[in-house]
Amino acid sequence: MTHYVLLGTGVAAITAAEAIRAHDSGGELTLVGDDPFGYYSRPGLAYYLIGELGEEMLYPYRKEDFLKLKMRFYRACATRIFPAEKQVELDNGTRLPYDKLLIATGAQAVPLNIPGSDLKGVYKLDHLADARALLADAKHGRTALVIGGGITALELAEGLAARGVRVHYILRGERYWPAVLDELESGVIESLLAQEGISLYHKCEIAEILEKNGKVNGARLVDGRTLKADLLAYAIGIAPRIELAREPGLTCERGILVNEFMQTSQPDIYAAGDVAQVFDPASGKYLLDSLWNPAREQGRTAGLNMAGPATAYIKPAAFNVTRLAGLTTTIIGAVGSGQDPDLLGIARGDSETWRQVPDVIVAQGGFEVNRLRLMVGEKHILGAVIMGDQKLSRALQNLVTQKIDITSIRAQLLAPHAPIADILAQFWSITQSLNH
Ligand SMILES: Cc1cc2nc3c(=O)[nH]c(=O)nc-3n(C[C@H](O)[C@H](O)[C@H](O)COP(=O)(O)OP(=O)(O)OC[C@H]3O[C@@H](n4cnc5c(N)ncnc54)[C@H](O)[C@@H]3O)c2cc1C
Repeated sequence: MTHYVLLGTGVAAITAAEAIRAHDSGGELTLVGDDPFGYYSRPGLAYYLIGELGEEMLYPYRKEDFLKLKMRFYRACATRIFPAEKQVELDNGTRLPYDKLLIATGAQAVPLNIPGSDLKGVYKLDHLADARALLADAKHGRTALVIGGGITALELAEGLAARGVRVHYILRGERYWPAVLDELESGVIESLLAQEGISLYHKCEIAEILEKNGKVNGARLVDGRTLKADLLAYAIGIAPRIELAREPGLTCERGILVNEFMQTSQPDIYAAGDVAQVFDPASGKYLLDSLWNPAREQGRTAGLNMAGPATAYIKPAAFNVTRLAGLTTTIIGAVGSGQDPDLLGIARGDSETWRQVPDVIVAQGGFEVNRLRLMVGEKHILGAVIMGDQKLSRALQNLVTQKIDITSIRAQLLAPHAPIADILAQFWSITQSLNH
């Protein structure tokens, strides 16, 4: 009987457990997780902060779903792996033997490293516990500083504003999320944020967090100005939690390196999700994704390889649906420089294509919040940003992922003032009918 041990209670570990059980109903399956709230939707934390989802809505699984997996569960932190003995040590002293081990420990916020960052009233948003603590402090009429240029920082700013907190949003750059959005898109988001009452500070950095009675009382900016505040929330990037793998010598870069079968440099140890840096045969590189769907797919692939038929992970085109300042935004494939720390998946591996400067075309609907931007290569659509109306989002995901040849419509798309949404919709419906 094979003994499988899975470290982490995120989507990658749980999906791996499902894949293992589908192929090995008799094996011994053990799950170890240190989050007191277990398995919940981390993307859902933003909706929880803003007040659109109750806490109970964050849990994708019910008790029955877990029972079906017939797992033994340890609420503990795994502290060491002994590959030679094939054992994992937990912080409660238990040593678990394994035949196949999965490390799915995710990623966590890069800490803020400025004077005062250890004060009471400084928050990040990694876990449900962070969201709860922030909400308890986010009382109507208070003032908050928010730092960070990506999606999570924006979610913090909006979540706080929705709770009646006055928000000063500090951006290091000249505009919001320049690594992914173009100037017009950043402008749309910023004007929506201003409508929500959020004050933006461009090209600003905090030099020091100021304190009063051991709590946040404001901040001093690098340019010397000071801002009063009762709390501070930050999201300045994430780092894979690789400590467990590094110590016994598993090969790591930013994440744990795995081949396309999700195996680490130790063949009986697998890694998946935000912690893994996965070999992509198409580009010959090891890539980090840091997104929910890739984590789920990698977990599934790891589980299959641990218990079932050898299955290679094929990296899909980056695809992320999110809401920026209340505006549904889908980002597909190569759309920016790939330097964004919050969303590494988006342009990674595609940056070479970006440097060839493919044509960019923009369709703008009748009102400011319907916008479609395409990155058009020689034969394919390489990426898209879809804001507002999402009718074309699935079609575009398929066009990018399946590398569908668009030569027949390329000239039409690039013609001045072309109705690109209509051209694409028609092309997609013809493509689909030919495939049936
Ligand atoms: C606020 C927020 C918003 C997000 N929004 C989006 C979004 O809109 N779209 C999107 O695609 N993605 C989003 N993400 C990213 C997405 O949540 C992650 O990509 C996904 O959760 C990764 O899953 P995972 O299983 O690899 O890791 P995780 O979900 O991080 O799970 C890892 C688990 O391992 C546990 N663990 C770590 N170390 C140990 C140890 N030593 N011992 C035991 N347990 C351990 C952790 O406590 C955690 O429970 C968001 C993330 C956050 C935090």
